[in-house]
Amino acid sequence: MNARASDSIDTRYVEVALPVPLRKVFTYDVPSGLHGALRPGSRVAVSFSRRKLAGFVVSGREDLPSGVSRALPVAGLLESEPVFTPELLRFLDRAAKYYMHPLGEVLRAAAPALPTGAMRRLRADGFLEATENLPGQRVAQPKTWKVTATGRDREGLRLGARQQRLLDRLEARESLLIDELRGEIKDPRAVIRSLSEKGLVAFEEVDAVSDPFFRTPVQRDSPPAPTAAQEVAIAAITEAIVNRAGASFLLHGVTGSGKTEVYLRAIDEVRQAGRGAILLVPEIALTPQLVGRFRARFGDDIAVLHSGLTIRQRDDAWQSLRQGRVRVAIGARSALFAPVADLGLIVVDEEHDPSFKQDEGFRYHARDMALLRAQYAGAVSVLGSATPSIETYYRANQGGIRLLSLPTRATGAAMPEVEIVDLRRHRSGPTGHPLLSGPLHQAIGDCLETGHQAIIFLNRRGFSPSIRCAACGALAECPACSVALTEHKAQGALRCHYCDFQRAVAQPCIACGSPEYKRLGVGTEQLEKSIEESFPKARVARLDRDTASGEGVEAVLDRLRSGEVDVLVGTQMVTKGHDIAGVTLVGVALADQSLAFPDFRASERTFQLLAQVAGRAGRAEAPGKVVLQTYQPDHPAVRLAASHDYESFYDEEIRARDEVGYPPFARLVSVRVHAGAEADARGATQVLADAARQHPAVREGAVQVLGPAPAPLVRLRGRYHYRLLLKSSDRKLLRNVTAQLAARIDQGLPPSHATLDIDPL
Ligand code: ADP
Ligand code: ZN
Ligand code: ZN
Repeated sequence: MNARASDSIDTRYVEVALPVPLRKVFTYDVPSGLHGALRPGSRVAVSFSRRKLAGFVVSGREDLPSGVSRALPVAGLLESEPVFTPELLRFLDRAAKYYMHPLGEVLRAAAPALPTGAMRRLRADGFLEATENLPGQRVAQPKTWKVTATGRDREGLRLGARQQRLLDRLEARESLLIDELRGEIKDPRAVIRSLSEKGLVAFEEVDAVSDPFFRTPVQRDSPPAPTAAQEVAIAAITEAIVNRAGASFLLHGVTGSGKTEVYLRAIDEVRQAGRGAILLVPEIALTPQLVGRFRARFGDDIAVLHSGLTIRQRDDAWQSLRQGRVRVAIGARSALFAPVADLGLIVVDEEHDPSFKQDEGFRYHARDMALLRAQYAGAVSVLGSATPSIETYYRANQGGIRLLSLPTRATGAAMPEVEIVDLRRHRSGPTGHPLLSGPLHQAIGDCLETGHQAIIFLNRRGFSPSIRCAACGALAECPACSVALTEHKAQGALRCHYCDFQRAVAQPCIACGSPEYKRLGVGTEQLEKSIEESFPKARVARLDRDTASGEGVEAVLDRLRSGEVDVLVGTQMVTKGHDIAGVTLVGVALADQSLAFPDFRASERTFQLLAQVAGRAGRAEAPGKVVLQTYQPDHPAVRLAASHDYESFYDEEIRARDEVGYPPFARLVSVRVHAGAEADARGATQVLADAARQHPAVREGAVQVLGPAPAPLVRLRGRYHYRLLLKSSDRKLLRNVTAQLAARIDQGLPPSHATLDIDPL
């Protein structure tokens, strides 16, 4: 791309960010062969500690850093185009600083995976061995082609019969494997090459043949006339886009209020202006329906980034976004890093969802970083939710984000009626099955009788969450983690949900040898069985991580949508965004489960889960009903979710946060330490605590240091985990103390490992 040729680096040395746990960049010598070939964002191979690593060029420099006498040469350029645009590189550098995380690890987390074998294909001159043969094709893989806009508009062009024929076939099928045409057209490859040279066909960027999100064709839709509330929101966002004002919005709309329609309009606005947009969703695998709506509106002008893509597909999506051939990127949190050209808008759907927080390695929050990237790119950001996070709503109230509200359902449907069932009084209902109280049993029966469908939510998979020895009472625990093993009855196994450990259920107690055991609690597997037994005629299915890995989420949801399933039992996978007209009943088997977490966000999380799952009921004509079983019917999170009263819940929660000084009134940094031996982990955490307490801000009480304390799961995958928590309402002082700890961590704490988690969840 000529526009960036001027970026090429012609200095003697370059700074390279490497994926190593050190908060610095490294200087390498540019060999003469690579002179002028490197640019900021280029992926290069270098030697580091006698290993070959892939890193990213950050900048050029004329001299060696002081104290360094020589630099190793850059061993090779791994990709001809820089992986990151200047805009992305600037943003990622800011993000690395914000999270005090090594830039090289940040860039590696943000980049698409390096094509396999690239390191081995480096030639002595530092360039890759060529594998190109057809235009646009980098690796030998099935090739799909599609007709370009010029090709579609080909009247008046003089084309040969074979060319005409091939174009017709491509158009009829949208895109297809060229080799499939061999039977019909002589030497289709030669024909495609000549069409490609004329610009009438282009290599298909997203592999439509195997990408599950593009497998079935969709009908293009025509947008509905917006409701009055949508109109206001669309106008405000559009104005900000046109003005390039870099504004941020919170779109607070009840479930089914038409937030998605607002996103579609806003994104279309950006596309019309020839700019690009990113839509972040919590879990892309759970949102085929949403992707379908985007395809219906935008056709092929979207790239869906998901973990099911091959390296090659991901690379193609990356290229087409960067070159502006595809304008819209949709994906889970890592789509934040999509190299969308001329970014005009970032939408974060269900912004409250905890999955936006990356919880290992580079621990970023995609929602917070979306605001940052948008700000840097002069783009507009829109955070949407029916149940905004307390932090976001607070910012909106403070005026940092503009609040847009959609207070009623777009279709005019009423919010579902919610019945709270006090499990202390009702206990198990007529069937004797636990978690199937009289009122829930009755509601499922009524729902089935009227030919409607039900979703029953229980946030624990497996048959029984834990088992206890009937003789001595010992809990069956994972040998590597401090958690109970969950019984999975279909497999006759006890499994740890944190590591891959499993063992047979039929095994005597480790403590006393007794073969008898008692089950504690109910998981989705057991609830599914209870419902099957109680309603023998109902077709019952289950959606949780166990079933999703078999049949696939989409297949289960398809069966629900097409009416082949009457009752769907599942974990939080059933709570997300599904819009299924036949579902009139939502049952929450145990509402207070998430309240038990030792976390100041437990109440918020519970409210969100309950309000979201309730929102799945009665989205079409038939009115919806929600049955909410709980041991704590008076808990504000339960009570206010039942009355669909977000504002009151927010008022209650923000007061509590203020009283105890938690976010948004204070900021937190969690220092996480782990080691193979508990004493080492505790000792290293103590060293860091002592270092922090030397800081004047801590001595004077402006920054609080809590700990060392064992992590909630002190043993995880055989290692011991300790924490130190820093807390302050003074952001700057908190960063100072954190920086001091980062420096101490960089000196090393063997045999322990320590990492920082800024704004932990
Ligand atoms: P949300 O994203 O807030 O949950 P959706 O955008 O999915 O809401 O909208 C809920 C339902 O209302 C969908 O079936 C959608 O097609 C419909 N809908 C949205 N906007 C309108 C509108 N302006 N007129 C008619 N129906 C609408
Ligand atoms: Zn025992
Ligand atoms: Zn385990």
